[in-house]
Amino acid sequence: MTKTNLAFGPGVVVRGVVFRENRWSVSADGAGARSCPECGEASASRHSWHVRRLQDLPIHGVPVVLELRLGRWRCLNEGCPRKTFVERLATAFPFARKTRRVSDLVRLFGHAAGGRTSEKLLARLAMPVSDNAILRQLKRHASERRDSAPLRVIAIDDWSWRKGFNYGTIIVDLERRIVADVLETRSAKETADWVKQHPEIEIVSRDRSGLYAQGVRQGAPQARQVADRFHLLQNLRESIERHMTRISRFAGRPQLPPTAGDRHAARRGERGHARQALFDRVSLLRASGKTFVDIAAQIGVDHRTVAKWIKTGFPLHRRRLALKPSSPLYFQEFLSRRWAEGDRVGRRLFHDLRHRGYTGSFSNLERLLSTWRAGGVERKRPEQQIRKFIEIPAVDPATGWQISPVVAASLCMKPTRRLSPAENAKVIVLKRASPSFVILRQLATRFRSILRGDDPDKLNNWLHDAKRSGVRSMQQFARTLSRDIEAVRNAIVEHWSSGQAEGQINRLKTLKRAMYGRAGIELLRARMLPLETAMCT
Ligand SMILES: [Zn+2]
Repeated sequence: MTKTNLAFGPGVVVRGVVFRENRWSVSADGAGARSCPECGEASASRHSWHVRRLQDLPIHGVPVVLELRLGRWRCLNEGCPRKTFVERLATAFPFARKTRRVSDLVRLFGHAAGGRTSEKLLARLAMPVSDNAILRQLKRHASERRDSAPLRVIAIDDWSWRKGFNYGTIIVDLERRIVADVLETRSAKETADWVKQHPEIEIVSRDRSGLYAQGVRQGAPQARQVADRFHLLQNLRESIERHMTRISRFAGRPQLPPTAGDRHAARRGERGHARQALFDRVSLLRASGKTFVDIAAQIGVDHRTVAKWIKTGFPLHRRRLALKPSSPLYFQEFLSRRWAEGDRVGRRLFHDLRHRGYTGSFSNLERLLSTWRAGGVERKRPEQQIRKFIEIPAVDPATGWQISPVVAASLCMKPTRRLSPAENAKVIVLKRASPSFVILRQLATRFRSILRGDDPDKLNNWLHDAKRSGVRSMQQFARTLSRDIEAVRNAIVEHWSSGQAEGQINRLKTLKRAMYGRAGIELLRARMLPLETAMCT
């Protein structure tokens, strides 16, 4: 090998090459910039020599070390605080122990494959670097990264560090389809601070948690907020599921008419009866030798719950136990008797209650009485009323088991043309068994097509109908939609959605798992942010 054929970049003059300790040692002299980094003045006065060892690209699968003899020069500018400096090279950053082309490769590998895998691959490619060094370099690069391209349309979504415990935030540039940032927490303040740095943001697609909505309002009031269509449909499905769960809890018993005026007490009463009925059924099934799993499938609850009920007994009157003489409900029997007799003056009832040992306040009693009084008023507002449907549990014709609320909810949402024959059979059974399912399915189908269409004005009619559907969970869903109506309308007008963010979250989860316990926010962020692929040579 002749030294003239070897090119190590500008400013490097090769003097010789020797094979030593299983690697090529290339000795060279520097001929780099000799101007002072402080004042910029050129110098020709050498102070001493300085040797720098740099890892470089391999030659024929053999590692290469560049041993560079660089001059240390005097700064002759008397006004300059710096006395000497080492000449600088285009091939490597100051203080780096690798040439820039090796650094770039290390960064590429680290970004794509993480620390340990890259360590193995790079060793095989004759560029041995420890995994710690790989991760350090990746993190440093991500923290120094300055993205200059303006952000116009973004999606904000959350992801979980540990499911149900703590959450982080991901921000995606929807136009360029890249991750804009990864934040450690999920909070309105952090979101506000982040978007404040990007006054160019015009559109923000987000889920319906009020947190991001609030953060964006604070930090980027100029931006149009778009409720994400996927999350809207998910919320709708969840509220249908809640309703179907309620139906299966009541397990086909006709719901009891409200007893006294208090709708809360009435609801509690219903629940108590329904629980008793459910418990009777569970005991009966158990006595007939059914397994927990069979029982669970028949009544539509989790098999662990069934096991708990049978082991520890049934939580019949959970709330009754907590009542104390300081609560007017403790004296409910007495109160409702007096109420029924027409004795409705709060002061007088309070006086009599005190004699019976009531230790609570007058206003506390008044609160209860006012709901009883409102019970009469409520019946005059038909749109507020919850219709009483006669529902019987729907049984899957294929298995003979009750159709679970989860399955019922997803079938409720599915358009008819996409139902398989088996699913269609279940839908028919559900419709026959439950009048509220028919209403929910019509509403869900309409909502879907409104979201897919381009006329946000159709929303008003839909909300009107949903609020009068007589199904409580659907009314709740409609009310929360109304509160966020601007963003929901934008979801119909704008074509942007957070779909990409979901994809990026999946990537993040995969990375997090592959990194085991080492996935700190810095490293996750470094691997989620796009890599600038511009390589220097
Ligand atoms: Zn100087």
